[in-house]
Parts: sequence; C-alpha cells; structure tokens
Amino acid sequence: MEPEQYSFPLERYMDPTVFERVKAFVAVKETPCLVMDLEVVERKYRELVAQLPFAKIYYAIKANPMDEVVKLLYDLGSNYDVASAPELNQLLRIGVPGSRVSFGNTIKKARDIRYFHEKGVRLFATDSEEDLKNIAENAPGAQVYFRIITEGTGSDWPLSRKFGAHSEVIFALIKQAKELGLEPYGLSFHVGSQQRDVGQWDDALARCTYLFESAELVGINLKMINLGGGFPARYLEATPPLEVYTAEIKRFLAEDFGDEIPEIYVEPGRSLAADAGVLAAEVVLAAKKSKNSLFRWVYLDVGLFGGLIETLGEAIKYPIYFDKTGETEEVILSGPTCDSMDILYENYKYRMPSSVAPGDRVYLFSTGAYTQSYSSVYFNGFPPLATYVLPR
Ligand SMILES: *Cc1c(COP(=O)(O)O)cnc(C)c1O
Repeated sequence: MEPEQYSFPLERYMDPTVFERVKAFVAVKETPCLVMDLEVVERKYRELVAQLPFAKIYYAIKANPMDEVVKLLYDLGSNYDVASAPELNQLLRIGVPGSRVSFGNTIKKARDIRYFHEKGVRLFATDSEEDLKNIAENAPGAQVYFRIITEGTGSDWPLSRKFGAHSEVIFALIKQAKELGLEPYGLSFHVGSQQRDVGQWDDALARCTYLFESAELVGINLKMINLGGGFPARYLEATPPLEVYTAEIKRFLAEDFGDEIPEIYVEPGRSLAADAGVLAAEVVLAAKKSKNSLFRWVYLDVGLFGGLIETLGEAIKYPIYFDKTGETEEVILSGPTCDSMDILYENYKYRMPSSVAPGDRVYLFSTGAYTQSYSSVYFNGFPPLATYVLPR
C-alpha cells in the first residue's frame, strides 16, 4: 500500500469543527494527552445497537477504562466484559451491578472467581478443565460459556492461540460443566482485534453450529453465542464499514441457525472507543543520523511506552496530523524514551511537512482505544498518558 500523505483529508477522520474545539482545549495542556469526545462513543454505541438490535452488548472495558466512558455506556444500557478484580471494583464504585458483568478472562485465580460471584457476577468464560473446576467450586451454579480458539487471521492485533480451545476439548468441557452443577450457557470466540476479514466470523460461527448440535445430542441446550470484539476503528488501513460486518454476521447466523437464532452477545472495545480519541503530542527533535541518510528521524513526546504500544510491529497505523502545509518528506517516527524498541514507524514511511520543528504540535487520530490503559507508569520518569473529556 502507498504511504499516506500527512495531509489526508481531515474530514476522513475528524469533524473539522470538533477538531478546532480539540485544538483549543489542548492548547493550554501539557502533551502528550488524550482527549475523548464522548459524543463519538455514544454514536458508535447507538450504531451498533441499531445494526444488531437483538444483541446484548458487553463493553470490553480494557479498551478505554476512563470513568466517563464507562458511565456513559452504562447510561446507554451496556453490560461489561471484565478481566480482573480491579476492573470489577471500578464498575462497582461507579454503581454498575455485578449482574451487568461477564468475567470474560479465561485466565483467572480461584479467589477472584469467588470474589466476582460474591459481587453478583453470574457469567463466566472458560476454556480449560482446571478453570472450570475452579468456577464450579467458587461460583456454584454459574452460567459458563466456552471460548473456542481462533487463528486471528486477517486482524491487525490478533488475540489468538493464547485463548480458547479446540472443539473436542470444548465439547468435553460442556458435558463436564453440567456434571459439576454449572449451567453450560453458550460459546464465545474473538476473531482478532481490528479484524479486516469479515469472513472470519463465518468460520467461527460454523464451529459454534457444530458444537450446538453436538451438545444437543447429549441433551444439553446451549443458549448463547458471544461474537467477541474485532469490529473496526478508522486507522490508515481501510476496513469495510460496520454495516458490512453486521449484515454478514446476520446472514451467517440465518444460514447456520435459521429461525432459531441463539441469544447473541458482542464485546466491542476498539470500535466504540478508538475513533473518539485524539492524542495531542509534540515534536521533541528532528535529526539526520548521517550526512547522506535519506530520512530524518522525528522524535515525538509519545511512543510505545506512553500509550502507543499497538504500533509494535507497526501493527496499528494511526492517522497523524500536522498543522502545517508545504513540501513534505518521508520520515522515521520515534518515541522519546531510552529504549531502542521505542520506534513507531520505520518501515512504513509517514510523510510530514519538511518544516516540522521541535515544539510543533502533532495530533494522532483514532487513539481512544488501547492507549491510556496500556501506558507505562514511570518508564524514564514519564507519567501514564493523561486523559481528558472534551467539554461539550
Ligand atoms: C479485548 C477483548 C475484546 C475487545 O475486542 P476489540 O477488538 O477491541 O473490540 C472483547 N472480548 C474479549 C474477550 C477481549 O479480550
């Protein structure tokens, strides 16, 4: 793919009037900082509900755990996919009841299962016998759903291999869950985050159909399929629009289940939060390493440790905007820390105005997901990424 010009049409990623408000807001703030436009989160949530009206939404809180985001989604009717006790505690503090929470992490301590159960959580994900036994012991009678393994093919940030199990293991777990007094409730999968191949849901759903049928043969009626996350945000590399995903998913469901579609859950993280965020940063330094090198190194005050870890392997390519015009050049973009892995983009060449200089502001769009929650606490003394909500 051709490298994008820095001067992509602003409107592709931002409403220009909102961008003016963002710039004015951060003009007096220290960089780097993330500004979230809650109106975008709300719009994304409503779009998903409109397109999958039968689905229950479990927001994957890890994508953006800011209180304001979590509260907004609560008011809109969302449930939550939670991975740890601190995430649950945050929700409880805000007033979200345990009944709106799913413990979606298949890797969990027995005492955390007990804690979740005590706090009213009834829905647990699993993919192993050891974990299933822990759930039976510490959350007796709970609803369990079983995560099937996917390859993450076609996604920009795969969540494969580490999670889920193959069909024969899942089938054994379904039967065992019933024997242990749990309610085998459904199946889940995650096709990989920022999944650009809509067909991946079809493959996963076909395996769900097979497991639903196998379970029925032994007298177990599974009720639910959790389609996970993977829905797209707008980065430089294009994806089909959300409507294509949801239309295809509805078609796959109708093909596989006819009129008897199970309960459907989705766990969006990125697709709700990413496009709502603008990360404001500053150029620290621009330099050439040798007289004859082709490219300047441009160092920003944000890098992999400041919240942009998803640029690892240049996986996620954020739209980056400079408020300058004129001649442009290709550069190597890097973060500010004393770690040589803190390079954002070297193979994929971003273009920047040649006049860019230390102190210039830089804006990274679609940075509302997987940034602040990933930022390190004190590497080289840099604090975690500061966050703000754009005043309405
Ligand atoms: C991270 C995660 C999600 C969210 O995925 P996105 O691609 O960000 O929407 C959903 N479900 C589970 C189990 C996850 O781990």
